[in-house]
Amino acid sequence: MRLLTDGTEKDPILRFCHTVISQHGKTWPPTEDTLAEGFANWLGLSSFMSRSAMQRLCRSKDVKLSFNPLPHDIRGFNCSFHNKREIIVTARETVAFADSHTLLHEFREMLEHTFVDLGYPTVTSTASLETHAEAFAVLCGMHAVTRDLPLFLEMAANVERKWPRYFTYALVIVFGLACLFGCAFTPQMEEMFLEAKRQRYVRT
Ligand SMILES: [Zn+2]
Repeated sequence: MRLLTDGTEKDPILRFCHTVISQHGKTWPPTEDTLAEGFANWLGLSSFMSRSAMQRLCRSKDVKLSFNPLPHDIRGFNCSFHNKREIIVTARETVAFADSHTLLHEFREMLEHTFVDLGYPTVTSTASLETHAEAFAVLCGMHAVTRDLPLFLEMAANVERKWPRYFTYALVIVFGLACLFGCAFTPQMEEMFLEAKRQRYVRT
């Protein structure tokens, strides 16, 4: 079944995939990092976003994002039909950055389905797509932090008095490191959280 028919012009995700193929078609597939950096920039991803900010961002790319209760071992899913695209992320909060991590994971799967439809798959199996989607989500998160850091550093540089300025720099560095750490370890922390929950179910 072909999910994508006409309507390239109405589908930003499809346009993004076309652009990636035109840039990297000769050396296909692009590395996960190249894809993540391109996507984070294209989406305008920030390191810290509320749920409503994520929804606005998705809407700007014609993707409907909602947060709904899902079975406890499912964090999100995505679907594409003609040029309608939707991502659902679990309403349950697990750890910091879990929402954006899941969102990016689902985006990566959506991109892959589009690449497949265009005849340019980047992975060979569903199992490896899961691994790629996890790596992609972490890498996008890191690119978002590096995108935001210059702005934060500039804000710190504009603090007039010396000690408050140093203090602001220190805060920016701690915040940056916390974000990088958060992005990199979100999958493991989520896993631990779910495992702890499973064990609680077993015990009681
Ligand atoms: Zn997945």
